[in-house]
Amino acid sequence: MHERLSHPLVPRFASREYDTETLSERCRWVEQATGANLSMVSAGTILAESMRGNIENPIGTVQMPVGVAGPLLVRGEHADGVFYVPLATTEGALVRSYERGMVLLTRVGGAEVRIERDENQICPVFQFESVASASAFSPFLAENFEELRRRAESTTNHGKLLAVDPLVVGRDVEVVFRYHTGDAHGMNMIVKATDAACRWLVEKSAALSYVLFSGLSSEKRPSARALLGGKGKKVSAGAEIPAKWVRLYLHTTPQAIRDLWQRTTIGNIMAGAVGYSGHYANGLTALFMACGQDVANVVNSVAGLTNFEVTPVGDLYASATLCSLVVATVGGGVDLGTSRECLEMLGCRGSGNARKLAEIVAATILAGELSFAGALGSGEFVAAHEEYGRNRPQA
Ligand code: NAP
Repeated sequence: MHERLSHPLVPRFASREYDTETLSERCRWVEQATGANLSMVSAGTILAESMRGNIENPIGTVQMPVGVAGPLLVRGEHADGVFYVPLATTEGALVRSYERGMVLLTRVGGAEVRIERDENQICPVFQFESVASASAFSPFLAENFEELRRRAESTTNHGKLLAVDPLVVGRDVEVVFRYHTGDAHGMNMIVKATDAACRWLVEKSAALSYVLFSGLSSEKRPSARALLGGKGKKVSAGAEIPAKWVRLYLHTTPQAIRDLWQRTTIGNIMAGAVGYSGHYANGLTALFMACGQDVANVVNSVAGLTNFEVTPVGDLYASATLCSLVVATVGGGVDLGTSRECLEMLGCRGSGNARKLAEIVAATILAGELSFAGALGSGEFVAAHEEYGRNRPQA
């Protein structure tokens, strides 16, 4: 027998869950239960009805400042032109910093960007009676790939199963299901597709059971595996920057930036960092917040590598590679109020635009890496934050 819970549950309203009045009613209930004044939370502009599928127990919206950084010239295969990038953050100096890198990139002819890989993964684990039957599963998967693909793709119009890669561990087999997910983030899509394939596998093979998430896929988890790609898009942005523009915009030299890069790799190695970056999480989070992306995917999307080289003529070559970038222009939260508007700013709203968004994100991240390196290399880092980024409580 369970004892009765002594604290009240959050009220539910069955079919009225997403009515405007329900939202206000629940908000008033929270105000009474907590003593907080939620006038700002309840004053949001996202219609309650449009929150269906994105949130449960809605009481309103939270608000964040959003700024714009640009111009950013991107020379990608999907994003080709100048962009003004929305960044939602409360970290003073962040927008100014990205803006500086963007203006510099634009001044030198833009960031060249390419997508190397575009897929999403989910990795269920199957259990077998013995090592021998686990081992026999790999050829079974290969022989039955077409049937697996048919089963998985029967649940989605846009998801495409690209491959299944088994990894035997004792009497378990981890299977990497690799999909193309179109313009969607794709987790709901591929979870459903994979579950259909797994059910068929348990029925037809020697597999006894399966767990849908083995942990191997690195969805929303920091891991070295995310550096190998496959969780989202692998995107590289690069630019050659003449020394005179490094001096003018970053107040330092290509060699000083290269030295800084080299000396900070040791700290990163000692920390056991996944990849090497200055501050990918800043730009990614701010862009994800503005554009309605699943912000928890910043955890895998930060896996990447920034590189600074000095060219034979003494200029700087800078690149940033994001190995597991998860972005979407369809599904999830991308159509909610401000998210839709921010995606429109980038010309990235709706079908056919996920790769374009990924290229803009990569160029944005490169801009941030350049500006960060410049601030450290020139010794201006503290001064910049003192000027833009302090918010001491008023006495
Ligand atoms: P979704 O909002 O659940 O579904 C989007 C759907 O849009 C797709 O499944 C697809 O339907 C359809 N679609 C229309 N045009 C498309 C196009 N051009 N490209 C691709 N799809 C198109 O979104 P989702 O991307 O599958 O899932 C994202 C959400 O899953 C995020 O909000 C995230 O927070 C959440 N999530 C779920 C899990 C999980 O384990 N379930 C884990 C992490 C995150 P069809 O498939 O019918 O073609």
